Amino acid sequence: MQVPASFEYVVATSVDDAIAKLSADDDARVIAGGHSLLPMMKLRLASPGTLIDLSHLESELRYIRADGPGIRIGALATHRDVIESPLLAQRARVLPDAEHVIADPLVRNLGTVGGSVAHADSAEDLAAALLTLDALVGIKGPNGAREVPLNEFYLGPYTTVLEPGELVTEIHLPRGASRGAYLKVERRAGDWAAAALGVSFDLDSAALKDVRIGLCAVGSTSLRAPKAEALLEGKTPDAALLKQAGETAAAEAEPIGDGRGSEAYKRNLIRILLPRAIQRALAAGSSNGSTIHAN
Ligand code: FAD
Repeated sequence: MQVPASFEYVVATSVDDAIAKLSADDDARVIAGGHSLLPMMKLRLASPGTLIDLSHLESELRYIRADGPGIRIGALATHRDVIESPLLAQRARVLPDAEHVIADPLVRNLGTVGGSVAHADSAEDLAAALLTLDALVGIKGPNGAREVPLNEFYLGPYTTVLEPGELVTEIHLPRGASRGAYLKVERRAGDWAAAALGVSFDLDSAALKDVRIGLCAVGSTSLRAPKAEALLEGKTPDAALLKQAGETAAAEAEPIGDGRGSEAYKRNLIRILLPRAIQRALAAGSSNGSTIHAN
């Protein structure tokens, strides 16, 4: 049986208390749902001397609320909260769509939005979906609060711009999108993606407007596909355009071969998934995410 190295456990009583405790101890790490950190500790890939538990900060950090044209999601909102939010279903459909294909109900009941984003795994589905909504990461630390665009938050695998003592406090979506969809190919139910992608856009009559594409598991971080976005922008999609956009996004992906597939296979998945995701987002009433099992 794998067991973690011994550690101290303390409960944060407020966000400020968590920041103070984290700032005072170089060897401390915060824990929210524990679904990423605990497996790493059991494998001894992480051995923090102290765990600072954020889970009692629900009154400060667990919310999903409208803010003008935008939306704010607290760091302790769970995957399940995202699935069940009527606000997100209406104004940020890509998020609940993605959540349906993240892990399983046990993980989704406890795993948090803040933990997912801070963990910085390039195969994290939520990050790719959030990229399609121009998400900003709300950060608070010993030197105050700041917001960083999600695509600048990641420095590489498992690495972010968070400074010592800083916490992710919320995700701020400056705007919603009337259409969104997320598609993922996985080897078996509940697995991480071989490749996945999300799309969000609005419609101007039949033309696509403000198109955003987020790619998952095909780079060292989640990626946008700006050339494919530009190709689709302002156009009424037809089969030829969608095919060309899929090929463009595939060329923009940066996959490496691993146990989930070769570089060529993953690129091909992006090529195929993009047209399907646009069509899915255009289709009325499609709200429950979709996976395609590779085997
Ligand atoms: P934790 O494990 O508590 O923390 C993760 C990391 O983030 C730690 O380094 C911690 O210190 C840090 N952290 C946590 N909260 C904050 C904060 N507010 N500010 C700063 N740092 C913070 N994800 C997918 O995207 N797709 C999948 O298909 C998928 N499958 C999974 C299957 C299994 C079996 C499991 C266990 C996980 C899977 N996941 C998947 C990952 C899951 O979504 C994340 O592990 C989880 O949601 C992370 O959130 P958490 O609250 O559990 O984070």
